Amino acid sequence: MSVEKNITSDIKKIKTFTVALAGNPNTGKTSIFNALTHQHQHVGNWPGVTVEKKEGTVYNDNNEEVKIVDLPGIYSLRTRSQDEIVASSFLLENTPDMTVVILDASKFERSFYLLSEIRELGQKTIVVLNMTDVANENGIEINADKLSELLNCPVIKTVASNNNDIEKLKKLIISTLSEEQDIIFTNFSESVEESLKIIENNIPKNDFKISNLSIAIKIAEKDDYFSKKFLKNEKLNEILKNISKEYKENNESDLQTKIIEDRWNYISNICKQVIIEKGNKSTSTIISDRIDKIVINKILGLPIFFLIIFLMFVFVYNLGNPIIDFFEKFISIFSTFTKETMVGHNIPDIIQSLIINGLINGVGTVITFFPQIFLLFLFLGMLEDTGYLSRGAFVMDRLMHYIGLNGKSFIPLIMGFGCNVPAIVGTRILEKRRDRMLTMLVVPFISCSARLPVFVLFCDIFFKKNAPLMIFSLYIIGITVSVIIAKILSRTLFKSENSSFVMELPTYHIPNMKNIINTSWERSSEFLKRAATFIMLTVIIVWTLGNLPIGVQYASENSIIGIIGKKITFLFSFAGYGFWKASVALLTGVFAKEAIIGTLATLLVGNSMTLTQALQSTFTQTSAYSYLIMVLLYTPCLPTIMTFKSESNSVKWTIFFVIYTFAVGLLISTLIYQLINLI
Ligand code: GDP
Ligand code: MG
Repeated sequence: MSVEKNITSDIKKIKTFTVALAGNPNTGKTSIFNALTHQHQHVGNWPGVTVEKKEGTVYNDNNEEVKIVDLPGIYSLRTRSQDEIVASSFLLENTPDMTVVILDASKFERSFYLLSEIRELGQKTIVVLNMTDVANENGIEINADKLSELLNCPVIKTVASNNNDIEKLKKLIISTLSEEQDIIFTNFSESVEESLKIIENNIPKNDFKISNLSIAIKIAEKDDYFSKKFLKNEKLNEILKNISKEYKENNESDLQTKIIEDRWNYISNICKQVIIEKGNKSTSTIISDRIDKIVINKILGLPIFFLIIFLMFVFVYNLGNPIIDFFEKFISIFSTFTKETMVGHNIPDIIQSLIINGLINGVGTVITFFPQIFLLFLFLGMLEDTGYLSRGAFVMDRLMHYIGLNGKSFIPLIMGFGCNVPAIVGTRILEKRRDRMLTMLVVPFISCSARLPVFVLFCDIFFKKNAPLMIFSLYIIGITVSVIIAKILSRTLFKSENSSFVMELPTYHIPNMKNIINTSWERSSEFLKRAATFIMLTVIIVWTLGNLPIGVQYASENSIIGIIGKKITFLFSFAGYGFWKASVALLTGVFAKEAIIGTLATLLVGNSMTLTQALQSTFTQTSAYSYLIMVLLYTPCLPTIMTFKSESNSVKWTIFFVIYTFAVGLLISTLIYQLINLI
């Protein structure tokens, strides 16, 4: 497994310090990590945003490296889902020099459980009480000095966005690294301690850097990971069985349950001593509760969710369009200017055609959509940071449960609005392979940002004033198809019980615009990079094939691209777009969805026609809409396919993935085309 490979390579680098950031999801680990290491990792308001560990570096006064590792959020050191495996195995095997446990001060008691488990590993620890602003607002204060005394480790209060707090934390990390720390363990009851002692004494020699007592606790808890490593030893296995049996006979509960119970008792005992509740709920909590009464209401929740998505397109479209118009004018002027210059300098026709037809029309048209991509990410970022997107997932979660699916699946699906690749990786938060496969298979029906330019271009031409509504309808079709297909798959190929999931809702807060603009810029500049590489390459290939064999009229039926196109058009003849240029564009769209526009522009735009005119003379309203449905649903882009392959680890399923999405797209777009025509 790749996780294990990473760990061994980490161990080899000696002489540097490693500090892990651990904690529950949504406690602010990534925010603190970014602030400490000056990075821009994605901060998100729901679990599963960080599914891989991320590394960054700070330096101490001797200029020695202190490597900071941001781990996926976990509630406990168990190892079931992929993100739990990454976080837990890092703490257990790699044993960082120190673990900084980040707690949400406003949800102190609950986030303590992981801390007590980490203390039981005997590792040096700093406790960060983050979100003290939220805690204050909720009328909760924590006595940090008392907590530090009880745990025998440094405790610091922070607000992740406060630079002073981060500076203090950095100093504390560096000074604590050079100090000794005695570990105080969870207070287990006597009967548990006795059993642990026996297990501890029978643990065989091993390479773990954590103590045998720590291992004994894990084994007594029947932890998957340690059971696998140690219970191959028959003697230990026998002893554990006897102890468990004996324990159950002499006590009311079994050993495993008692350990967990003891932990909670220990925690609640500490909480009694350190939490000072002032009792008055703040206005923001009250407001949050009030908003939620409406927003996640059983009846209103879903309509509100869809309304907000609709508003997103009104926003993206209306704000983006004037900018696009400006870009388009610029490109057309630039194109005329370039053409005249080239004619003036006697540049050969073929080069002129490459530059005008290929680069300016093809790549240039794609790039004009940059503002809308940016605005989409901006809007999604705001929804996410205010805390609304979690509500969206919550509302959909209820719907998903209702039709018998794991609601947690909707979190990666919502990520898919940005890009399908992280959405597929995001399915790692699902525990069962069945749930993961199912979710990965339906992710591509969620329309990603790369499809937006195609929608905008077509809807603008064919539906004018109704464009936002039509774009919205495509997104809704995408969500509906993914839910229906998931339902079908769960009834056929993936039959089994579905697991339950509790979703947490963060309090609403004013979005941090600086952060959001930064991330939106980063994510949308990916689009520009793709345009300059992938799409440019595709367009050049299309242009070249349009000029071969030598002497053929550019982009005519007799060119190679024309011959290829004509071979596949029959597939689409019942869907309304059975002409070869549209088919070729679908083919190139598998490299990257934006390439559809690039290809159409390269092939359609002639001397006398703009892209708009060319599209108007090729498509009708109905066939344009059915084409967009195909673009929405058919085979996802190559990077998504590759990610699916590596995450599913199955060539067979990947082939299925490619073919079945194509079939679903073709089927639905044909149906809709025929249906509209009937009416
Ligand atoms: P992670 O899941 O632990 O990595 O948490 P993130 O760093 O992604 O943060 C989750 C959310 O909490 C984001 O919306 C952050 O902007 C927000 N956040 C992080 N730290 C604080 C804090 O100290 N105070 C407040 N009010 N919000 C915070
Ligand atoms: Mg994170």
